[in-house]
Formats: sequence, C-alpha cells, structure tokens
Amino acid sequence: MTQLFMTEAEIYQLVIDCLAANGCNKDNAEALARTISRAERDGCASHGLFRMPGYVASLRSGKVDGCATPTVERISPAVVRVDGHRGYAPLALERGRQALIEAARDNGIAAMALVNIHHFAALWPEVEPIAEAGLVAMAFTTYKPAVVPAGAKQPLFGTNPMCFGWPRGDRPPLVFDQASAAMARGEVMIAARDGHAVPLGTGVDAQGELTTDAQQIIDGGALLPFGGHKGSTIAMMIELLVAGLTGMDFSYQAQENDNNDGGPPNGGEFMLAIDPNRCGDADNWLEHSEEFLARLSGMPGAHIPGDRRYANRAAHADGGIAVKQSVYDSCQQFMRTG
Ligand code: NDP
Repeated sequence: MTQLFMTEAEIYQLVIDCLAANGCNKDNAEALARTISRAERDGCASHGLFRMPGYVASLRSGKVDGCATPTVERISPAVVRVDGHRGYAPLALERGRQALIEAARDNGIAAMALVNIHHFAALWPEVEPIAEAGLVAMAFTTYKPAVVPAGAKQPLFGTNPMCFGWPRGDRPPLVFDQASAAMARGEVMIAARDGHAVPLGTGVDAQGELTTDAQQIIDGGALLPFGGHKGSTIAMMIELLVAGLTGMDFSYQAQENDNNDGGPPNGGEFMLAIDPNRCGDADNWLEHSEEFLARLSGMPGAHIPGDRRYANRAAHADGGIAVKQSVYDSCQQFMRTG
C-alpha cells in the first residue's frame, strides 16, 4: 500500500481544510485538527486521519453541529459541567480544561462531566495536558454497544476507553489509555481493511462464536472485554460513570438514537483531576513515586505507558509521518465534494 510522508503541521492543515469545506467553523476545526494531527504524530493511526470519513459523514448528515459553542459551568465547587451543544468533543474538552484544573487545585479533587458531545478520538490528548499541569487525571467515555459482557451473547457495552495520567515533574507524564475491549474497534477496523487476522479472544462473529477474522467481528459480530470478567466490570463501571452520572445515553441508548451515518453518536464523558499536593504528601509524593517508577522501568521487559508514543513523537518530528495514500486521497475528495 503506497504512503506519503507529512509533517504534523501539514496534517493539521489538511484536517482544517477538510472540515471547513464540510461546515466546521474555525474553532471546532482547529480543536479537531489538534486532536487528529497529534494522534498521527504519536503513531495512533486508528484515531488520526483514518477517522475523517466518520467526521465528515456526521457533519454532512447534520447530526453534529460543526459550529457548536460549548458552554462551561461550575455546578458545585468541585464539579464542572460542559455542554458541547451537539459538537465534537475536542472543543468542549479544551474549553472546560482550565475550569477543571482550577477546581482540582481549589478542592484537591474535581470532576468534569461533558454532555451532548460526539467523541471519536483517543483519550490521551485530553489527559496529557492536565497531567502536564501537575495533576493526576482520568477520563472515561462510552460509545455504541460493541462489547459482550462476560457470560452474555450480545454486545451491551461500548468499547469504553479509560485513560490515566500521572505527573512526573520535569519529565513527560505517565499516561495509559486503553479500551475495555480486548482490542480497540479502530484497530480491528484497520486489521479488516488490511486483511489481517486478529488474535483469538479479540471478538466473536455474528453467531457469537470466537473468530480471528477482523471483518467478521466488524460485520455483525462483537468484541470481547479484555481480561474476561475483570474487563467486563471495568466497561460496566465506565457506562455508569459516563451515562449514569451525567444523564447522557448509555451505549445501548446511543445506538437507538444514532442515525448510523458512520460518525460518533451523541454521548458524554467523565473526567477526574486530583492535585497531588493536596493529598497529604505534598513534600514527598513526586520523589516517592519516581522511586517506584524507576524500580518499574528498571525491570527488564517492563514498559512505562506513554513512552512508546513519546518515542514515536520524537521519531516523527525528525522523519515525517507516514500517511496511507488512500487516506490522504479520501481527505482531498472530501474537500472537493464538501
Ligand atoms: P493499547 O492496547 O494499544 O494500549 C493501551 C495502553 O497500554 C497504552 O497506554 C500503552 O502505552 C500501554 N501499554 C502497552 N503495552 C504495555 C506494557 N507492556 N506495559 C505497560 N503498558 C503498556 O490500547 P487500546 O487498543 O486498548 O486503545 C487504543 C485507543 O483507542 C486508545 O487511545 C483509546 O482512547 C481509543 N478508544 C477510543 C474510543 C472512543 O469511543 N473514543 C473507544 C475505544 C478506544 P504506550 O502508548 O506507551 O504503548
């Protein structure tokens, strides 16, 4: 498959041009372009330009308002609520971030409930800046049913990602970001597109039988949770945090209410931020946790999550970012036909 090499700035501009041609205003297009170009920069192709067909489809169908202006409200000392007004998540996240950081510094811990947003991205781009600001951060979101609860036959949970960021002083934060599914649906879609098999235990076919065929998992099949019943409980918890707390749709309701245009359904997101200087060990938490992380990273074969992305980031700054020609061509097509 042919590919071309682009800089992060070129990808950023490509996304803006594509979204602007399809009804996004400057603020929304720029926020989305930051998210998408950073995904490509960090080697997260499944949440980069690959998502443009879904973004464009949901603008064209009118499901998503590309000109939405999110509103931010501090509904209690420690809770920030952001209404995305039917826009994409990145602008709502950017608009609410400072209020969440301030609420966490004021109270030691704070939450942010995002409602009426359309989330189609990886979570680390939104957690990393909060951890860079010196706070512990967590984020959770839901989607449409794609994951079968442990012991059941039909999907009920979304792929429900959760992300955790830990500040490390002068170093880049530790950030892990993972789906509750055995494999992110975007990765299975890429495997299906490229004709690759996926490991057994990733998902089931339409009859509920285990399969390694990525296309069968996408076409009427479903994913399995990671780690059996333990991943199933995490996925359930995310449903409750995101939908149960905010009043937004559970994944099964999002499915019922979505127009299935290929873009993300309307939904919510839940974030937490914790100030480590307000949790009883202000003078020592950083040194103490760095000792632990030094122990971890010193173990042969162990990995500090986030380090792979940071390595990709550095490599891509030098060598450019490989983009599939077909993905680039589809963006050009969206611009011409917007
Ligand atoms: P991966 O399984 O690829 O990685 C999960 C995390 O594990 C990463 O942070 C990774 O760090 C870390 N990791 C990998 N190997 C090790 C190791 N040996 N030891 C310790 N940590 C390790 O992620 P998923 O496929 O589950 O998810 C991919 C993306 O999909 C996520 O960004 C998620 O937000 C997104 N997603 C979004 C959804 C949405 O609705 N918006 C739905 C579902 C998923 P590192 O980066 O350093 O490799």
